[in-house]
This record gives sequence, C-alpha cells and structure tokens, in this order.
Amino acid sequence: MNSNLYCDILVNKLKPSIRNKRRGKLSKGVLFLHDNARPHTSCKTVSTIIKLGFEVLEHPAYSPDLAPSDYFLFGLLKKELKGKQFDSDEDVQKVVQDFFHTLSKSAYKEGIYKLQERWRRCIESQEQPAINVKEFEKPHQFKVHNFMGMTWCDFCGNFMWGLIAQGVRCEDCALSAHRRCSEKLPNDCCPDLKLLKRVFGADLTALVKAHNTIRPRVVDLCISEIEKRGLDAEGIYRVSGFSDDIDALRVAIDKDFDSVDISANVYEDINVIAGVLKLYFRLLPIPLITFEAYPNFMSAIKQATLQDKVECTRLALNHLPPAHYQTLKFLVAHLNRVSQYHSKNLMTAHNLSTVFCPTLLRSSDGAPPSEQLAAWQQESVLIELLITHHNILFASK
Ligand SMILES: [Zn+2]
Ligand SMILES: [Zn+2]
Repeated sequence: MNSNLYCDILVNKLKPSIRNKRRGKLSKGVLFLHDNARPHTSCKTVSTIIKLGFEVLEHPAYSPDLAPSDYFLFGLLKKELKGKQFDSDEDVQKVVQDFFHTLSKSAYKEGIYKLQERWRRCIESQEQPAINVKEFEKPHQFKVHNFMGMTWCDFCGNFMWGLIAQGVRCEDCALSAHRRCSEKLPNDCCPDLKLLKRVFGADLTALVKAHNTIRPRVVDLCISEIEKRGLDAEGIYRVSGFSDDIDALRVAIDKDFDSVDISANVYEDINVIAGVLKLYFRLLPIPLITFEAYPNFMSAIKQATLQDKVECTRLALNHLPPAHYQTLKFLVAHLNRVSQYHSKNLMTAHNLSTVFCPTLLRSSDGAPPSEQLAAWQQESVLIELLITHHNILFASK
C-alpha cells in the first residue's frame, strides 16, 4: 500500500460506493476514520481528502489495538491464512476474497459496533496526553529591583552591590540576578503560584506552568460549560452577555478559581460564559497566536491553493509555544463542534472566525489603515481554516 494506491481507492472506489449505497451521505458530510499509517497521512492523501470534502477523525499515534480494521477483521483473516502455502499471487487473492465473502453479516455488524467502544478509548487517550508542562520554555520577566538587605545573585553567586537598583528580579518566579547575569539565563522560568495574582491578563505560559496544566483552567471551565448547555444557543459567541455579569465572573475567577460556580443556577445566560472566554483571550499580554508566529501564519494564508495553505499553516503552528499550541488546538476543536450545530445556533465556521479574529491574534506593528482591512480579512480566513481543518492541522506527526 502506498499513497497513490490509497488515493486511487478513496476517489475511484470509496466515493462512488458511498454515492451508490448511502444516498445523500456525500452531501450531508462524511466523517472519515483511518489510522496514522504513512500512506494515510502523506501530503498527497491529505490533499485528496480535502478535495473529497471528508472530515477526518484524529487518531492517536501508533496504537494497533485501536486501529479500525486490525482488531476484528485482520485478526480473523490471519487465522484463516495461517500455515497455508500458496503457489501464486492469484491463489492468495482468491483465498482472501473467499474469506471476506464467507464472513457473516453479523460478524461485520459486530465489528462496526465494537468500533464505538474503541473510538471512545481513542478520544479518552487524547484527553490525557503525555506532555510535561514543567518543561515548557518560558523566559523570565526581569524588572529592575530595589533589594532590601543583603542579596546575592542567583546566577553567579556574587554579592549584589549598591543601595538601590542592585539588580533585576523576575516578576513570575522571583529569581534575582545582576543585570548582566540576567542576560545569560536560559528560558527556564518556573512561575510561582504565590506571585501569580490573576488569571486574566497573565501570560498564558506562566499560568499553565504555575498550575501544571496543559491549558489554562479557565479555558477548560468555560468550554465544558458551553458544550454542556450552549451548543444550540442562537448566536453563541456573537451575542454579548450582560457586561456587569461578565465582569463579576472575571473578578470571581481572578479571586478564587476553585470556588467559582458557572452553572446555570448562577449564570443563567450562557452568553456570559462565552463572553468571559473571549475576554480571557483578548486580555492575554501575548495573544494566543503570538506576535512572533503571526507573520508565518499570514504568509501561509496567502498561499494560492488550499493544499499549500494547509501545509504552510501546519508549519506555522510549530512556531507557537507549546502552551499556546495546546490551547489553540483545544479551542478550534471546540469551535468546530459549535459550527456543527449551525442549523440551530446560526454560527458557521465563517461567523465564528469573524467573531474570534480580534481576540486571537493581532500584529505587533501598527499597519496603516489601508492595509489593516486586508490583514483583517486574511486573519479571518486563517481562523476559519483552523476551525474547518483542525483535524489535519493538529494531527500528531
Ligand atoms: Zn522567572
Ligand atoms: Zn551575577
């Protein structure tokens, strides 16, 4: 099996047989499941699937026990072939075809039903990825500091002379150093929970490192509530909640995250929760799509073909710090689910991208107004691409 053969099967066999056997399925949308074998993830296959318009379910890295055909079909086939000798390719072909024909309808049915259970395990395995948040790189936030009493440099160990402004201190982890020494320190800041006073407006990487979570907890909190009771709310994320309520919830989360109740008992209007999530992203000192990665994304979205846009956006994602990458991945997968309810909530991927654009990215330089409009349109196209193709873009390599 190689990419060419696989693509040929998808286009010339699978698609026609879906059209013949499952009327209307092609226009309703095909959710496509295959594992991460090389022919399935190659550039050619990815672009073929985009052209077919199939949505791909993300599959965890090599895990044969979860592969859709290995667990029931191939195992039985192997049993059938075991110990037999064949004189020619045709003989093998015949035995394999006979095997598929003799397998009863109920055996196929059972295999497909088992898939549900396997797939649930796939999803669960993705929810606990083996990521060591403590190892995320984060630069120190040094500020000139007036040290009280005698202080020694955490880098060189020497005394820090002077009465005031003896050196610098990191605002996130309190590491103290001579100004010169601070320039030599690696990006190994481990923020101290005690120094991190807020959730809103705090650096995203600092927040996840301090809490040792792969994403900010506030993002998970809001998204799970919206998935619980807001997916079919008309205009979700576009309709704004009452601003006093949004502010009250922001203050409550900043004050004591663990005791916040965002259930319908307290915040009946789901738009308040959606508003708080958007506010969180808007207040990030470094936007979710960072200033540094921004040019990479903009050049990706200017590519001529959809395939090139997808390939270059995938590469641009590598420029995001891990915490930003993980949070963006989680957010756009959620927005994709929201868009699937667009017949009820009236929020298509396009509408969502328009709403989220100003909160997720901004260029660092003040472009002239004439260019701003064009840039804004490109940004919106990018967010829409992230929402619609998130499975391919964030697939594990
Ligand atoms: Zn630090
Ligand atoms: Zn020093």
